[in-house]
Amino acid sequence: MPRLGARIYLTADAGPIYDESGKLVAVVETLRDMTVQKQAQDELHRLATRDGLTSVANRRSFDQTLNTEWRRATRESRTLSLLMIDVDFFKPYNDTYGHQGGDECLRQVAAAMSGVVMRSSDAVARYGGEEFAILLPATDPPGALIVAERIRAAVEALALPHAQSDIAGHVTVSIGVASVTVSSGVPAQLVGAADAAFYRAKHEGRNRVVAAEAASDSAVQAA
Ligand code: GH3
Ligand code: MG
Ligand code: MG
Repeated sequence: MPRLGARIYLTADAGPIYDESGKLVAVVETLRDMTVQKQAQDELHRLATRDGLTSVANRRSFDQTLNTEWRRATRESRTLSLLMIDVDFFKPYNDTYGHQGGDECLRQVAAAMSGVVMRSSDAVARYGGEEFAILLPATDPPGALIVAERIRAAVEALALPHAQSDIAGHVTVSIGVASVTVSSGVPAQLVGAADAAFYRAKHEGRNRVVAAEAASDSAVQAA
């Protein structure tokens, strides 16, 4: 209802009425306002799929999207890329700024990441604790590396003070990148490859992006 500036959801039922000869003589229409039910349904969907703290997709939603996109990538012979992102020295961050400070930091990091990804199919999720995952459908390894570096830089640009970080005076993230182009295997392999890359990013000094090494399984390729 554009003139009212309101959105309402209606359901319409139509029932025919016939005379003795079977001729249609009237139609009884019932219009019901379903707005409240529709809003409740939308809210339930949001609660089931979004993370309460950061509002990005939750882990359950991520797992579903990963399965869907894995199948689509296989069907369409496209490259699917995954970024695994972990906040550096987050335990000392909590110890210094308190859990509320930590939660606010996660909110800002999530918002910065959401602002960086461009395509509507790109999916930002809270994977757990202070770890995030970003699924990039139809994105090749060089493209995934560009997005990862943009994310790393966007978090750094937030310039959130972190007095207890061993590597910088502000909050930073480490990112592992992996891509899959071959139809064999299971989605968990892509997560495993991105995970291994992100552990290397930690090991090599944090606040950096590391691409997966060529895995022994041909399904997961170096980015
Ligand atoms: P690094 O990743 O650089 O190796 O060090 P780290 O200190 O970040 O280590 P790790 O990733 O293992 O630490 C996770 C910590 O994050 C544990 C806990 O203190 C904090 N954390 C996890 N989930 C939450 C959360 O939901 N809210 C807040 N405030 N803190 C969380
Ligand atoms: Mg962690
Ligand atoms: Mg961490």
